[in-house]
Amino acid sequence: MGLLLKIFIPLLGLALAFYFYPAPENFSEEMLRGKRVIVTGASSGIGEQMAYHLARMEAHLLLTARTEAKLQKVVEQCLKLGAASARYVSGSMEDTAFPEVVVKEAENTWGGLDMLILNHIGYSRFNYFNGDVGHVRKLLEINFLSYVAMTVSALPMLKESGGSIVVISSMAGKIGSPFTAPYSATKFALDGFFSSLRHEFNIDKVNVSITVCVLGYINTENAMRAVSHAIRNTPAPKEECALEIIKSGVLRQRELHYPPWSVGSLVLLRDIAPNFLDSLVRSNYNVENIR
Ligand code: NAP
Repeated sequence: MGLLLKIFIPLLGLALAFYFYPAPENFSEEMLRGKRVIVTGASSGIGEQMAYHLARMEAHLLLTARTEAKLQKVVEQCLKLGAASARYVSGSMEDTAFPEVVVKEAENTWGGLDMLILNHIGYSRFNYFNGDVGHVRKLLEINFLSYVAMTVSALPMLKESGGSIVVISSMAGKIGSPFTAPYSATKFALDGFFSSLRHEFNIDKVNVSITVCVLGYINTENAMRAVSHAIRNTPAPKEECALEIIKSGVLRQRELHYPPWSVGSLVLLRDIAPNFLDSLVRSNYNVENIR
C-alpha cells in the first residue's frame, strides 16, 4: 500500500501538471501574417477583439455578423491597426443560405482560406426553460447548424491550405448549468460534432486542425448584461481571451480551456465527482435574482 501510494501520488501529480500546463509551444505573431481568416460574430465581444488582434498581426480578414454599421466600424479599425485587408458580409446565420454566402465571398476574394473562426451566437434568455421548442430549434440553427454548414463549404479550401477550424464553445457545452438549457444544448452539439469530425480527419489524414475553445465567464457587454446579476464569479478579460483563442488555433491545439484553471478544474471534476460539481455549480448562482 505504502509503495502504491509512493508511486501513485507522484504519477497523479505528473498527470495533473500535464493536464493543467501542457508543454508550451512557440507562438509568434508572424504565424498570422498574410493568413486569410474568417471571423463570425465579429461585430462585438470576443469576435471583435479577435479581429483587432488579427489585424495587428497583419492577417487578411473577412468579418461577419448581422449589424452592418457595427461591422463597418470594426473593419475601419482593423485597417488602422494594420490588417493586410479587411472586409465584411452582413447577414443572419438563421438564414440557411447565409453560411455558404460568407464562404463564397472568401473564395471569390482570396481564392483560398487558412482559418475559419466560428464564434457567433443567437440571443437566448438566461432563465428557467419555458418550454419554447421553437426557440431551441432556432438556436440550433444559429449556434450549431450554421457552424456545420460553414465548415462543409470551407473544407475544400482548408484542405488545400492545411488550415484550421476554431470553434468557440463554452463551459455550458461541457457541464450542465442552470438557466441556459437551449444555449447549453447547442454548445454540447458543437463538442460532439467537431470532436467526432476531428477523429475522422485524423483517420483519413486530412490536414485540417479543429480547436474547440471551452470558455468560462468573459466580460463582454452582452454576457455581462445577461448574467452579471445572477453569477457570483468575476469575468475574465475579453482581450486576453481573444488572443488565447487565436494562439490555440494557430498552434493547432485540440482544446483551449480559458480561463485555464477554473475551466480545467471544473472539467476534471465532471469526471471524478459529478454530484459535488453539480452543487458547486448551483452555489455560484444568485438564484433569487432569476425571474
Ligand atoms: P456577443 O458579444 O454577444 O457577440 C455575438 C456576435 O454574434 C455578435 O457579433 C452578433 O452580432 C453576432 N450574432 C448574433 N446573432 C446572430 C445571427 N443570428 N447571425 C449572425 N451573427 C449573429 O458574444 P460574446 O460574449 O463575445 O461570445 C462570443 C462567443 O463566446 C460565443 O460563441 C459564446 O457562446 C462564447 N462564450 C462567451 C462567454 C462569455 O461569458 N462572454 C462564455 C462562454 C462562451 P449582431 O448582433 O450584429 O448579429
